[in-house]
Amino acid sequence: MTALIVSDLHLDGARPEIARQFGAFLEERAQGAQALYVLGDLFEAWIGDDDPDPHKRAVIGALRRLADSGVALYFMHGNRDFLLGERFCREAGGTLLTDPTIATYAGRQVLLSHGDALCTDDAPYQRLRALVRDPNWQAQFLSLSVAQRERLAGEARAGSKAHTAGQLPMLMDVNADAVARVFRDAGVDTLVHGHTHRPAVHALEVDGRPRTRIVTGDWYTQGSVLEWDANGLRLEALPRA
Ligand code: MN
Repeated sequence: MTALIVSDLHLDGARPEIARQFGAFLEERAQGAQALYVLGDLFEAWIGDDDPDPHKRAVIGALRRLADSGVALYFMHGNRDFLLGERFCREAGGTLLTDPTIATYAGRQVLLSHGDALCTDDAPYQRLRALVRDPNWQAQFLSLSVAQRERLAGEARAGSKAHTAGQLPMLMDVNADAVARVFRDAGVDTLVHGHTHRPAVHALEVDGRPRTRIVTGDWYTQGSVLEWDANGLRLEALPRA
């Protein structure tokens, strides 16, 4: 049996090719897996579980079919879809995980995270993250109409793009001390996260113990999946047909 981990699909009505590849992935590759973990940024934007957008509804339906076939689905918030809530999880047939979470499978413990909390060198982003993760801010945002929320989310995305474009690449990656801290706090040897769109397997040492940090990739031009079974964890690129 196998568990699969993906992240950073950034599904959006404007990028139907990603939704097509992910739909095929759910219907083929993910069938028969024990579990599928989606470590954040499944959607490019999520303005609330009451969004009637047919593109998003179709994704929920595809996830639900996989869940109904017996695959355990787990979701984690990304920096784009941090408003995924209980209704989404109920409709998609999955469980929301806190960030970070230790998952145990095939005799191994792995720490799962979206990864944005590790990018502590990007101070303006961390301030924004603290704001939008505040329950009061979220309640206020969710009290707005769908149209108002869509407009604000569009402005936020434009602001995020401008911010990202103006940053040094190293500030947009994880901070080594932040990574060491989560390894130490969790007491595990393997960390899996997405967010940085730099798929790789990194060997490092924390407190004299060898550790592995695996970064799942985004789905902009190809898919990315981490397969986890009794033989270990393997990161794989999924070419787009
Ligand atoms: Mn992200």
